Amino acid sequence: MRSPESELDALREQDLHRQPGHLASPPGREVSAGGDQLLSFASNDYLGLATSAELKAAAAAATEAYGTGAAASRLLYGATPPHRLLEQRAAEFFGKGAALTFASGYAAAVGTMSSLLRKGDTAIIDKRCHASIIDGARLSGATLRVFPHNHTGKLERLLRSAAAASPPDGRVLVATESVFSMDGDTAPLDEICHLKSQSGALLLVDEAHALGLRGPGGRRLAHELGLASEVDLIMATFGKSAGSAGGCIAASPAWVELLANRARSFIYSTAPPPAQAAAAAAALDIIGSDAGDALREQLRGNADRLASALGLTPPAAAIMPIVLGEERRALDAARSLREAGLLVPAIRHPTVARGSARLRVTLTAAHTSADIGRLAGALGGLLGKGEAARLADT
Ligand SMILES: *Cc1c(COP(=O)(O)O)cnc(C)c1O
Repeated sequence: MRSPESELDALREQDLHRQPGHLASPPGREVSAGGDQLLSFASNDYLGLATSAELKAAAAAATEAYGTGAAASRLLYGATPPHRLLEQRAAEFFGKGAALTFASGYAAAVGTMSSLLRKGDTAIIDKRCHASIIDGARLSGATLRVFPHNHTGKLERLLRSAAAASPPDGRVLVATESVFSMDGDTAPLDEICHLKSQSGALLLVDEAHALGLRGPGGRRLAHELGLASEVDLIMATFGKSAGSAGGCIAASPAWVELLANRARSFIYSTAPPPAQAAAAAAALDIIGSDAGDALREQLRGNADRLASALGLTPPAAAIMPIVLGEERRALDAARSLREAGLLVPAIRHPTVARGSARLRVTLTAAHTSADIGRLAGALGGLLGKGEAARLADT
């Protein structure tokens, strides 16, 4: 039998071993990690809401009123007012008839994909979709088809063959992210919506990295493109720009009711703490307000500043990958940035394809122009002029 030690050694040999670090401060532009004070470009709390007075107050009030734990699954014990408020707000925010919240985005994706699809159905997903979508599709027993990243020609062919093979009551579901989590680019949602409507398939769009950042009032990318009603299942997490935690599916009331009856990650899991729901609801209010617009503007300015300093295309939202190739190169780059007081994570297989290891820079509204200057200087020194030019070409 293989031992855990031998498996860990194999990971180390391939430069794929990981170790969660220690964070001794709230997430923010400056963090205390492993005893060092670091300027952080590692957080998905893009708007800085996780430490905002409004969210903390909402969470504290919900804890005071309803306790720290939800004490049971929603189907056993019901939803507290914060849970109901969040689902109402989320449905309005996403422009859908209803919404269902889960303990995490991962749980939302796994529960949704695995419960809406079954053997004989087909899931067609972008190659770079998040692990939660892939895992849910695998668990469902449906046929899994993968198209190369953003390749709508291949998607069209897969849709055609899935329609031909589908039983009369079969489902075909297309899934993509709107802003990709490790590449920071966007999906061609207009083309994808057109193809899915033509073929009668369902569409799930994971807006984890667009919520709060793209579209009027931060209502996400599909909204910005005028495609809100074409997306059957909108998926999001409140753990990123919403500064809290929890996953969400917004859809028509019938889909949401079906999920509440079928999604095992919803049914067999304790409801998230009321504080988590209250903070997420408060976040949606801020995201949709003028204050949200101001935060988006600051973030946009930071992203443009860094892109222009490095000679790169500005990111679609807040994520800028610096693809370095070998796993070791990404690790070494992250280490030398850390020595310079900058926290930028190295991303490796299996999160990204082998040989496409990278630094993943995430920008936030809280960064100052001096912060961006410091990062640009360190990255410039690290990459050298030639490399920066090569990156600009890709
Ligand atoms: C983070 C993420 C998820 C999972 O959300 P959690 O709430 O963190 O579990 C799903 N999809 C994408 C694209 C993500 O980046």
